[in-house]
Amino acid sequence: MRKVAILGATGSIGASALDVIARHPQRFRVTALAAHRKVDELVALCVRFRPEVAVIADSAFAASLRQKLTAAGVAARVASGEEGLREAAASADSDTVIAAIVGAAGLDSTLAAARAGKRVLLANKEAVVMAGALLFEALRSGGGELIPIDSEHNAIFQCLPSGKPDLVRAGVRRVLLTASGGPFRGRVRSELGAITPEQACAHPNWMMGRKISVDSATLMNKGLEVIEAHWLFGVAPEQIDVVVHRESIVHSLVEYVDGSVLAQLGNPDMRTALAHALAWPERIEAGVAALDLLKIAQLNFEAPDRATFRCLDLAYHALAVGGTAPTVLNAANEIAVAAFLERTLPFLAIPELIEATLGGVPAIAAQDLEAVIYADLTARQYAQRIIRRDFC
Ligand code: NAD
Ligand code: MG
Repeated sequence: MRKVAILGATGSIGASALDVIARHPQRFRVTALAAHRKVDELVALCVRFRPEVAVIADSAFAASLRQKLTAAGVAARVASGEEGLREAAASADSDTVIAAIVGAAGLDSTLAAARAGKRVLLANKEAVVMAGALLFEALRSGGGELIPIDSEHNAIFQCLPSGKPDLVRAGVRRVLLTASGGPFRGRVRSELGAITPEQACAHPNWMMGRKISVDSATLMNKGLEVIEAHWLFGVAPEQIDVVVHRESIVHSLVEYVDGSVLAQLGNPDMRTALAHALAWPERIEAGVAALDLLKIAQLNFEAPDRATFRCLDLAYHALAVGGTAPTVLNAANEIAVAAFLERTLPFLAIPELIEATLGGVPAIAAQDLEAVIYADLTARQYAQRIIRRDFC
């Protein structure tokens, strides 16, 4: 029986994870559920899954959560704030932690799960972009393991030899991340000036949270995933390529020196990656419809439009600079996306703001958590100052 803590339980990944878990009550038990502020949704999940701990990240809602759980007859302990998240991540109650909080807010608990030696199912890509070296150091010292949930990285994980292979000896030449291209694939710059949050969040293939939906529309999602792939698989930036594949059926590929290219295919449904990671190295039913190749008939591939969607190259640039540059990139992007969703920042200003922040906040060595948090904060303040100056 795997004992699973879900951080970000009320989100899109949280829902997919719980859907898979509910199909296998004999295999999985939910030990902790954590959310940001949505008390009613969290209570409903607690009624259904009966965790030992319910965590609300915003402490202002702790009393309300406690009262509503009692009223619903749920005996779960209530915890709150960063400390509550950390506790849920590291508690001996669980052996598996699904890190599905969005953004930098998930870093602390993801690190705590790694240090505590858990099997970390990583959806929270921002954590690895911000602090990849520290996360892998924490996994090493804690004796934990990381299994990627991001569909591309889960695909690559499935296409690599098992264990932690030496990529040179394994004959890996490069990894190819597929990108749907987002809702604006094929559009030119002049067509993107008046894009609204609603348009940006209407992804053609995937149902996701709003932040990652905007990231998909700018191609920053793929940029973050390039950095994520570097840390997860130890591949050099020049061994990571991006190919646009509008159908989102091939989730990513690994190319070997003998010319073999292994790919993982499936319908665009995150339950596949979640089921794979939850049961690994076994396989379990995920509730996902079988892939009907005859119905799909065609798979298309094209180069990304790097001139229109500049975020992809900004991410490669940050990875090449190293140190805290990816932390700065991620922080500026989070500020930019939030401002875009609040209708303060135009869509096309997102890469401009990130570029200006990368230029204005010099990278330093990312040797400890203090350096990473300092870079994150400095970049956020820098980006916010530009927004106030130029857009308010
Ligand atoms: P979402 O917005 O649907 O859900 C986010 C979750 O995080 C919610 O449960 C929310 O309560 C919680 N949260 C938000 N802010 C928080 C805070 N400050 N403290 C604690 N909890 C907080 O997002 P999502 O689409 O589920 O994405 C979650 C993560 O998974 C992101 O990092 C995203 O990049 C990654 N991811 C998502 C998908 C997908 O298909 N949705 C695919 C690959 C990777
Ligand atoms: Mg992805």
